[in-house]
Amino acid sequence: MKIKCGGGVVALSESQSEAQHPKIEDREPRKKKVVVLGTGWGATSFLKGLDASLYDVQVVSPRNYFAFTPLLPSVTCGTVEARSIVEPVRNIIKKTNGEIKFWEAECIKIDAADKKVLCRCNIENLVGSGEFSLDYDFLVVAVGAQVNTFNTPGVKENCHFLKDVEDAQKIRLSVIDCLEKAVLPSQSEEEQRSNLHFVVVGGGPTGVEFAAELHDYIQEDLIKLYPSVKDKVKITLIQSGDHILNMFDERISSFAEQKFTRDGIEVQTGCRVLSVNDQEITMKVKSTGSVCSVPHGLIVWSTGICTVPVIRDFMQEIGQAKRHVLATNEWLRVEGCENVYAIGDCSSINQRKIKDDIIDIFKAADKNNSGTLTIEEFQEVMDDIIVRYPQVEYYLKKKNILDLRVLWNDPQGNEREEIDIEGFKLALSLADSQVKSLPATAQVAAQQGAYLANCFNRIDHIEEHPEGPRRFTGSGHHNFRPFRYKHFGQFAPLGGEQAAAELPGDWVSIGHSTQWLWYSVYASKQVSWRTRYLVVSDWTRRFIFGRDSSRV
Ligand code: FAD
Repeated sequence: MKIKCGGGVVALSESQSEAQHPKIEDREPRKKKVVVLGTGWGATSFLKGLDASLYDVQVVSPRNYFAFTPLLPSVTCGTVEARSIVEPVRNIIKKTNGEIKFWEAECIKIDAADKKVLCRCNIENLVGSGEFSLDYDFLVVAVGAQVNTFNTPGVKENCHFLKDVEDAQKIRLSVIDCLEKAVLPSQSEEEQRSNLHFVVVGGGPTGVEFAAELHDYIQEDLIKLYPSVKDKVKITLIQSGDHILNMFDERISSFAEQKFTRDGIEVQTGCRVLSVNDQEITMKVKSTGSVCSVPHGLIVWSTGICTVPVIRDFMQEIGQAKRHVLATNEWLRVEGCENVYAIGDCSSINQRKIKDDIIDIFKAADKNNSGTLTIEEFQEVMDDIIVRYPQVEYYLKKKNILDLRVLWNDPQGNEREEIDIEGFKLALSLADSQVKSLPATAQVAAQQGAYLANCFNRIDHIEEHPEGPRRFTGSGHHNFRPFRYKHFGQFAPLGGEQAAAELPGDWVSIGHSTQWLWYSVYASKQVSWRTRYLVVSDWTRRFIFGRDSSRV
């Protein structure tokens, strides 16, 4: 090894040099290594918010781009082009204030004990090994989820999914294929009807939006190009529940059902798909128990999500095998794992322990074991609970906890007012049953990413100025305020330039003006000016020239 010494260069053996001259890394504190898995909503929001000069950051994802998923249904029909909704991740990381390295690979194993992740690059024709491992001090897991087929036979082989850009592109080609097949001279009328039967399984926001997009595409563009088969096209939406969009306000779900019926989209609620093959879809009507099979030209399966294999293995390893989704605490740290954080669709804040934890806080405050707290003690406990569990605040407030006061006379005959733990437990059970897991949405993932970046940026500051719940401060992440989700509303585009929106404060808006609100919100939420420009020009192009139906 050679080191510079007073202008000259001196050669030393490795051990001599280390003993006499400490390595530069030894003198300068090493930056902590942060490894981020994923380039979706959660990871991108984290990377954009992180002060990258503080850490040695590496990102691993099999996708070298960020995709604006809410516009995927628009890509299936060419309303918006695929390239308009994606942003290369390297563009995103080059705008940060430090060096962030990106590796196009997937994580195949998380080794929390050794603080390592094992990764594999799947790029075709790679020369040499594509496997490598990365050490971390902090790991941020944001790998999203995969489509849940509920192990329904034939779904994987015969259905389209709508989860990624490639899925949307495949659907776009298949829709055109169905029409081209139907107009061939060799097709009988029955075959034409089968080819032109588009089935959407799942009446959630994605399934409904896709059905609406497809209906518009067919009515506004395709029937002009394929007039001979225009009366044979049929769209069926299958939903296992009693209503579509059942996570929305009732007014929205009934408006959507009525609109679809007017548009000729057949909505079959209360039906469970039993199996699928390349010709037919077989389902059971729940109310009658009858089973029927119908021919199809294309099926889009959109019934929800489940955990990806690498997370399932990881959960097994850390004792979370019985859970459906990776559990974190309210600081987004994976339960039972030091320095591993999980955000977005791959994780969920563990709500089950909340009630027990709150009772423990109550008991700890009840120092003489009387089963009651004074109003002042109780107020202090509540302050703590609300900082630690912001999600129960709304329900606890609604219940008016102070109604649990009990009046009694102490031995001196003074009237006392206290809170009884049994009554409090009851109120908590009610609150507990109403606290639901956060929805798997881009909004949640992005807010979690931004929250976590903010925590990482303030680690030193927070040591001296803790802001977390008083009872827990002094132990690392507890010094921070826990994650708190702010719901900004949710849209459901319903086609025909109409949309529905559920906005904060239980405010519901439906119709053409809501569709314009949708356009402006989604244009403003684009990740860069480049994609904003591309998306808006795609919408304009569609208004002027219609959608492109070429099979390219
Ligand atoms: P994702 O955004 O899915 O990102 C996961 C990332 O992890 C990807 O980059 C992936 O390549 C990477 N990855 C996967 N496996 C590995 C691995 N083994 N190693 C490393 N990296 C890996 N939400 C809304 O709020 N509003 C909407 O209107 C809306 N519309 C939607 C429409 C559609 C069609 C879909 C599919 C979803 C929609 N969502 C919407 C939901 C939203 O997209 C998700 O909730 C959000 O993407 C979750 O973010 P995430 O970061 O957890 O995962």
